[in-house]
Amino acid sequence: MYDPLHDKIPGCGDAYPDSYWANVSGDAPADDGAIDHDIDVDVAIIGAGYTGLSCALHLAQQHGIKASVFEANKTAWGCSGRNAGFILKSSGRKSYSNMQQQWGEEVMRGIYGEMCAGVETVKELISQAKAQGIDCQPQEAGYIKVAHKPKMLNELIALAKLQQKMFGYDVEILSKDEVRQQYMDDRNAYGAIRYQDGFGINPLKLAWGYQQLARNAGAKIYTASPVINWHEENSDTASATQLLHTPNGIVKAKKVVIATNGYTPKGFHSLVTNRTLPVLSQIIVTEPLSDEQITACNFLTSNVVMDTRALKYYYRKLPDNRLLFGGRGAITGKSADDPYYAQRLLSVLKTSFPALANIKYHYAWSGWICMALDDLPHIYQSHDKVSQSNVFYSMGYCGSGVSFSVQAGKRLAEKVAGIESPNLPLYQKALPKFPLAPLRRLGQWSYFHYGKIKDEYF
Ligand SMILES: Cc1cc2nc3c(=O)[nH]c(=O)nc-3n(C[C@H](O)[C@H](O)[C@H](O)COP(=O)(O)OP(=O)(O)OC[C@H]3O[C@@H](n4cnc5c(N)ncnc54)[C@H](O)[C@@H]3O)c2cc1C
Repeated sequence: MYDPLHDKIPGCGDAYPDSYWANVSGDAPADDGAIDHDIDVDVAIIGAGYTGLSCALHLAQQHGIKASVFEANKTAWGCSGRNAGFILKSSGRKSYSNMQQQWGEEVMRGIYGEMCAGVETVKELISQAKAQGIDCQPQEAGYIKVAHKPKMLNELIALAKLQQKMFGYDVEILSKDEVRQQYMDDRNAYGAIRYQDGFGINPLKLAWGYQQLARNAGAKIYTASPVINWHEENSDTASATQLLHTPNGIVKAKKVVIATNGYTPKGFHSLVTNRTLPVLSQIIVTEPLSDEQITACNFLTSNVVMDTRALKYYYRKLPDNRLLFGGRGAITGKSADDPYYAQRLLSVLKTSFPALANIKYHYAWSGWICMALDDLPHIYQSHDKVSQSNVFYSMGYCGSGVSFSVQAGKRLAEKVAGIESPNLPLYQKALPKFPLAPLRRLGQWSYFHYGKIKDEYF
């Protein structure tokens, strides 16, 4: 499997992984195919995931700028077509209490507002895409955060109280019995908090919907068009032109947006080098549960569920009664497809639902999420070198970017159009560099071991 810390390009026109989403979503809507000659564009966007598509859509709809998106493989071939489809009011891994301590209440509230705006924009785009025949099947609303140990419930209750007080957020507290009797009989659940507003969708169709809306608004989406080399012309002036080399044509761009997130290739651009850590997240989807199995597990909900472990597990019941179950994957691309990782998820699923002791999985795949050193996504325009002031990026969602990437794309579009972003660390600061960057994987390995011990014994 492609490994962003080792490989120079993610592929060229590669097929989707053999995921549940790729199998159930039908045919992709039309795109603009591969670029086959040199072109001049005002704005080039690299990567056709949610970030790139949202940026293209907002540039066209709100600023009258018709951008061209260049995707190495297919639309949403990266994380956007592989994720679990949880729409949540969050991104990154930094807690609101930590934000408040570091930056004060106003900034913390500002960031919360951006997360909420992301969810609202996704909902709006879901309805627009549905009206055009692309339905990403939103499920009933509700996000359950499960305490995997009795003492974790106290932490969840404290979090719920903080969010209720700070944001007037509607968070319900559920005892162990309430979770098991009213939602699902998860034997690893020792209570939970439940938000009324998270929900699950088909992530690939969500991206296809964005693509259709962006193309209708005048954007071009070129697939099978990896950027394999990048040069600057007139690099000591503010009007430097960016030259993006693809296999069959050179793109001359006045402005460039990097929207490659966890799939950013090795040494791609100095602005992002050593500033992210791609980490594999793995998903399995089981065979459909029979009525008897659903009753035995008391599986009454299609809410999205996540637990409190340091190495989190998450799951949801899909519209066809299969279970999607996810957690951490391998460390390197080379071992990503080792069935060990899918089997490990299956055995954890069975500890939650012993009645499914004989269940099999039908699909298993993984994808690269994008960790940032400070646990925050960054949407940034370079000010370091005069020639780079026409290069922008957004990345670092830390495995939680389905809803916020849309807001990030909208803010990116504003930056490209010369409009100032809100004065929040998300929009004003570059991604911090990882110290000892060549040892990032060793750090990740150590964290996994620490997490395993913490989750088991503390
Ligand atoms: C298994 C898994 C489960 C997840 N579950 C959730 C969830 O339930 N909820 C949630 O909020 N988040 C989840 N996430 C994270 C979420 O999917 C991402 O944050 C989001 O999709 C990021 O979108 P993006 O557009 O920034 O990046 P991506 O969708 O990864 O798109 C980047 C694109 O750039 C392309 N690219 C890279 N290099 C080049 C190049 N040189 N030339 C051209 N194209 C290039 C890639 O091919 C790729 O298609 C999950 C991620 C994974 C892997």
